Amino acid sequence: IHETQGTGKKVLLANPRGYCAGVDRAVITVEKALELYGAPVYVRKQIVHNVHVVRTLEQRGAIFVEETEEVPEGAIVVFSAHGVAPVVHEEAKTRNLKTIDATCPLVTKVHMEARRFAKDDYDILLIGHEGHEEVIGTSGEAPEHIHLIDGPDDVANVQVRDPEKVVWLSQTTLSVDETMRTVDALRERFPGMIAPPSDDICYATQNRQLAVKRFAADCDLVLVVGSRNSSNSVRLVEVALESGAGASYLIDYPEDIDLAWLEGAETVGVTSGASVPDDLVRGVLDLLAVNGFDTVEFVTEAEERLTFSLPQELRRDLRAAG
Ligand code: SF4
Repeated sequence: IHETQGTGKKVLLANPRGYCAGVDRAVITVEKALELYGAPVYVRKQIVHNVHVVRTLEQRGAIFVEETEEVPEGAIVVFSAHGVAPVVHEEAKTRNLKTIDATCPLVTKVHMEARRFAKDDYDILLIGHEGHEEVIGTSGEAPEHIHLIDGPDDVANVQVRDPEKVVWLSQTTLSVDETMRTVDALRERFPGMIAPPSDDICYATQNRQLAVKRFAADCDLVLVVGSRNSSNSVRLVEVALESGAGASYLIDYPEDIDLAWLEGAETVGVTSGASVPDDLVRGVLDLLAVNGFDTVEFVTEAEERLTFSLPQELRRDLRAAG
């Protein structure tokens, strides 16, 4: 990407990084809704957990709200990629809102698992971070059956009705290794516990962590582009540190880089969370190049080709508009 000037300093750039299929779909959903219906389009919660994406959409006419009650009666509201509890759909209906659901299909899959196991009367141990929007949405599918397990420390205290009828599910954006440690601890308490039918931690979260693991030990510093409330981005910093990086920081913008971090560093790893547009990463690479890190090597873990179609309610209106 940049010419080599023989400084010996280099950047290792993780691949894959940045946008996943669910984020891409959610952002395009808001953009298309703005084009089709005109501003304002209301969005419940941040459409994806990235400061830059939210600011850019705000400039184009999106209005972000915390709850549906803030949306004027009859207006259009988009639900974010993290998913919502059924009660939110009901509230929107009561207020006569036109809803477009941009929940990532891989989050919807976990909702469906929760519904199914609740119907079969299992106790569901949902591994996830307390207060995270996705966890609130999934828990809302079956509040009376779901117990939140926020890390290994919660394992000892959880009470279930029948230890032979227990299943674990998880948030999609957790650390794979930490989740497996929690699962092991749960299995010690509940040997009859069953696992989700397929991975709940999504492909994008897994691939970004694997790419970081691949280069972390070779890096004096790993820069993760992403916002503080982005679970998968924060996990990338943790994975980098656990896997041997000298240091690791989460940054929203290139300007967040403290040049002191680069002093004495020879190799800097760069990656980004699943909600981060790649122009922010390009800005980071430009800043690094100016500071002597002018060779970029790709570290490729996987090629991602998954895409999701837009929410059907939006597709229908787009078709009708010709
Ligand atoms: Fe979907 Fe995973 Fe992206 Fe979340 S991180 S939006 S679950 S693909």
